[in-house]
Amino acid sequence: MQTIRQQLGKAYWPLINGEWIATAATFASVNPANPEEIVGQVGSISIEEAEQAIAAAKAAFPRWQRTPAQQRSKLLCRAADLMAQRRAELAAWMVFEVGKTLQEADGEVSEAIDFCRYYAGEMERLDQGYDRNLPGETNRYHYQPRGIAVVISPWNFPLAIPTGMTVAALVSGNCTLLKPAEPSSVIAAKLAEILVEAGIPPGVFQYVPGRGSVVGPYLVKHPDVHMIAFTGSQEVGCRIYAEAAVLQPGQKHLKQVIAEMGGKNAIVIDQSADLDQAVAGVVQSAFSYSGQKCSACSRVIVLNAIYDRFVARLVEATRSLNIGPTVDPATQVGPVINAQARDRIQEYIAKGKAEADVALEMPTPEPGYFIGPVVFSEVPPDAVIAQEEIFGPVLSVLRVQTFDEAINLANGTHYALTGGLYSRTPSHIEQAKAQFEVGNLYINRGITGAIVDRQPFGGFKLSGVGSKAGGRDYLLQFLEPRVVTENIQRQGFAPIEGVDE
Ligand code: NAD
Repeated sequence: MQTIRQQLGKAYWPLINGEWIATAATFASVNPANPEEIVGQVGSISIEEAEQAIAAAKAAFPRWQRTPAQQRSKLLCRAADLMAQRRAELAAWMVFEVGKTLQEADGEVSEAIDFCRYYAGEMERLDQGYDRNLPGETNRYHYQPRGIAVVISPWNFPLAIPTGMTVAALVSGNCTLLKPAEPSSVIAAKLAEILVEAGIPPGVFQYVPGRGSVVGPYLVKHPDVHMIAFTGSQEVGCRIYAEAAVLQPGQKHLKQVIAEMGGKNAIVIDQSADLDQAVAGVVQSAFSYSGQKCSACSRVIVLNAIYDRFVARLVEATRSLNIGPTVDPATQVGPVINAQARDRIQEYIAKGKAEADVALEMPTPEPGYFIGPVVFSEVPPDAVIAQEEIFGPVLSVLRVQTFDEAINLANGTHYALTGGLYSRTPSHIEQAKAQFEVGNLYINRGITGAIVDRQPFGGFKLSGVGSKAGGRDYLLQFLEPRVVTENIQRQGFAPIEGVDE
């Protein structure tokens, strides 16, 4: 961390057609625990520069498409090795730029490495295609890339998520533009450096930081773009989905959109739960990274028989958390990402005070964008704080009389991302497996920290469209399947080979 502190404040430029381009406009990325500390100055691309990047991607595509899948996979493995070598440095950048604890940042480097190695292997598997040949006829099923992919990533997993989406697009043979979230543009620049060092050809990968609301829609609507891989809020995701559906003048294809969006994730606790386990799991799921994970627990639904006991223990366990800057290794809860997020979360807390009881409100350190964890109890199921994604350290506890009611409430939002159950009753565990409507269900453990391949990640309903990241179907979204059927019942070939008439 001392090494990285000495590197703070440098300039990071977009990578267009293999060159780092000094742009006219820049913005500062700051340390959310100490906003006066500038982590980096980032070049912000203009519409003209976005157009240049698309033109470079278009020019690079025919060659990248023809590059053997094995070679593309090797490049991902080299990137993974470089990340492993730079593990400590990458984790420290996350501590400074987005306020992650070192432990969680380290886990995120592992996830980024896993994405590279997993998608490299997956592409080699898919590249085999398959044959269904008959006497006199061959049938070959294989995949080709779509073309130009635009990746739009969020700030909350500043390395793993942009890495996953970008390398999936690249290994499938697509030329890829990465538009990172503004508050995490320096870490995304580190990913760009790594891909360049791993040997990515000019134009195949381009790093295009800029204002999401300006350059984002331009890239999404561009007629030469074939697909958009987005992770972020429901509001922006739905907008991209709609914009990408409109056929633009000159566009000769329909766009594919992957949109991974938010959640309002619940953990159900029944009367047979081991409360030692349940309290620790809820605290970790709700407050690690200040609740700023799409998978974070923001509702706990507790059976009446143990409600009061659970809330009392939850409050004491939460009170024990250390809040502060994440450069301090003792910190368990760091800042939220920026002033806008802090103000929005505070508005939700004010609404919550009108809707429910405050079981705990922890003090908020100064300066920096901090919010002390808040626990609301006796929260009505239709309260705003029980329905909307808050994306901060705010937890709602709801009381129910029966297990059926608990499952109904858990399913009673527009989202279906993660969910959890603490129970030692086999029939409840079976019922949750069948009826709990979430993409990732966790039983008797915390609900965050999915691991590539072991727990492919992603939701449905308004939590997103597309197959799970880090899962077997993910790369298929970046590819077009083709079948070639050939009649080989011929009496030899006509002798015109090599004859140019
Ligand atoms: P966001 O939607 O504000 O921004 C995401 C990205 O979209 C950024 O790069 C931003 O610059 C860009 N953008 C903004 N406006 C745009 C527009 N009009 N057109 C195109 N791009 C635009 O989200 P965020 O605050 O960065 O991330 C937090 C959200 O992400 C939460 O809702 C969280 O649940 C969600 N998330 C979901 C997953 C998942 O896997 N389902 C994972 C992480 C985060």
